[in-house]
Amino acid sequence: MSEYLKSLQSGYTFSPYSYLDSSWTFDIHSIPTSLSILVQNLINQGINYLNSASLLQMLKDGLFIITLFKFITTLLNDIIGYGIIGYIRILLHLVSKFVMQLILNSFFLKGKVDKEVAITVHKLEESLIVPTPTVPNFDVIPEKGLTDTEILNNLQELADLKHSEWEKGKVSGAVYHGGDELIKLQSNAFKIFCVANQLHPDVFPGVRKMEAEIVSIVLNLFNAPIDTGCGSTTSGGTESLLLACLSAKIYGYRYKGIREPEMVVPETAHAGFDKAAYYFGIKLHHARLDSNTYKVDLKHVKKLINSNTVLIAGSAPNFPHGIIDDIEGLSKLALKYKIPLHVDCCLGSFIVSYMKKAGFNDIPLFDFRLTGVTSISCDTHKYGFAPKGSSVIMYRNKKLRECQYYVNSEWTGGLYGSPTFAGSRPGALSVGCWSTLLKIGDDGYIQSCKEIVGAARLLKERIMKEIPELEIIGDPLTSVIAFKSSKINIYELSDLLSKQGWHLSALQKPAALHLAVTKLSTSSIDELIDILKQIIVDLSTKGKVIKSDTAALYGVAGSVQTTGVADRLITAFLNTLYKTSTDP
Ligand SMILES: *Cc1c(COP(=O)(O)O)cnc(C)c1O
Repeated sequence: MSEYLKSLQSGYTFSPYSYLDSSWTFDIHSIPTSLSILVQNLINQGINYLNSASLLQMLKDGLFIITLFKFITTLLNDIIGYGIIGYIRILLHLVSKFVMQLILNSFFLKGKVDKEVAITVHKLEESLIVPTPTVPNFDVIPEKGLTDTEILNNLQELADLKHSEWEKGKVSGAVYHGGDELIKLQSNAFKIFCVANQLHPDVFPGVRKMEAEIVSIVLNLFNAPIDTGCGSTTSGGTESLLLACLSAKIYGYRYKGIREPEMVVPETAHAGFDKAAYYFGIKLHHARLDSNTYKVDLKHVKKLINSNTVLIAGSAPNFPHGIIDDIEGLSKLALKYKIPLHVDCCLGSFIVSYMKKAGFNDIPLFDFRLTGVTSISCDTHKYGFAPKGSSVIMYRNKKLRECQYYVNSEWTGGLYGSPTFAGSRPGALSVGCWSTLLKIGDDGYIQSCKEIVGAARLLKERIMKEIPELEIIGDPLTSVIAFKSSKINIYELSDLLSKQGWHLSALQKPAALHLAVTKLSTSSIDELIDILKQIIVDLSTKGKVIKSDTAALYGVAGSVQTTGVADRLITAFLNTLYKTSTDP
């Protein structure tokens, strides 16, 4: 029998305090005494320490204790957030990725991996760098300036290079309106305000007025409080998200003293949140989705919230699946824990805000009418149909907006302040946006919402009824429809669609495709359904094995065995963007 069991039999109870008094037994009355002995003992040790340790030693120990305390709090928060199993899974994943990276970089494999990557990069370059036999290469500035005619001819030829046919609405998103009349108006607006810069409101007072009115119009559409609602125009959805996250970080620091900010966003939130976390040093938590609705799981969001949380977020709708998160539920959490809530309506823009007016009454609340919502981003350059480079970030109150400003009263260049990331800003873009809003008007946006959402719902219903091989993800209510499949390889489907001129967006985790229906694609839905059916027949009956580059690429991205390879390919893609004819 072990010593321990023996000791139990003899009435000796194991206790962490037993070292205080070896005759200690489990006697309830003795607890006060043993506690006082414990406290006395600790005090004695403390006095001993204070007498003997040097000041430096004490500082060192203090720092160590603070660091240890922080480490343990973070660890506990993460374990609470992800659950013990979830946390172990995250650790295992990180460790296996680390080990695989070591293996892939090892002497034996590095050469092979490099070769594979080089082959893929070469293919990438071939598909992106389109030869221009009739337009000369200008890798350095021409010695003598060209004539206007020469330049315009070159421009026309560059515009006519073979490209994905957005004109027929066969590309997901990308060009949201594309009507000739609107393009003409926007070009004329650019012409008038070509030189405008919002950095100089005194030089371009008209642009200041237009920018203020864009913000006001969009605030009104999203039911912002009339007395306190405010915002600014930005260069696009990503900038709007970056500013919302920056504002939340600064707000948390300024008003709550949070020094190690964290955010909680759905797994389906736009990568702009990850970018913000990366740029601004915010710890980002991705909350799981409900497996039926594909909305963010509120219980998980709640678990991930802690005293360092500066922002929680939801999308209306999200980019991958076009699903609107339960913003009402998120708003309740935000109010309960007094944390700002951002709603990403970058994509929803002038669709989600027009659903009610267009007669789609199944749309839940998502905007400032929910009192927990503190900021909303809306891309005027998506369903607002403004020229690219235009979005609006809105706040419930001025305090939040001030947290995104940059002010500097000590610069040798003078008193400096700037509301967003850029210094100089192209005023022409705001002018193009303002002109577009006025041209389309309330009636125009109601009409386009009816058409676009109508087409998206037609796509959803026809896939559900007529193509059993495809499964719609969740129940999308607006303009984006995503589908996956357990019968066919979705990436092979994607490649075959591309061959027929249709470019849907590829998604992962789970493998899926989506179409963001635009004004241009509304009349092509029936054609898309026909093509989908025909390709699926080919894929499933003939059992045709096609060599799918997309499947290969997503295979690489989704596998731990190829850790780091997908990142290298993305980097190579970015490098390709800047290749000229003289690049090696
Ligand atoms: C497009 C999009 C963004 C980012 O917009 P960019 O204009 O591409 O920077 C953010 N969120 C969602 C949901 C989007 O669809």
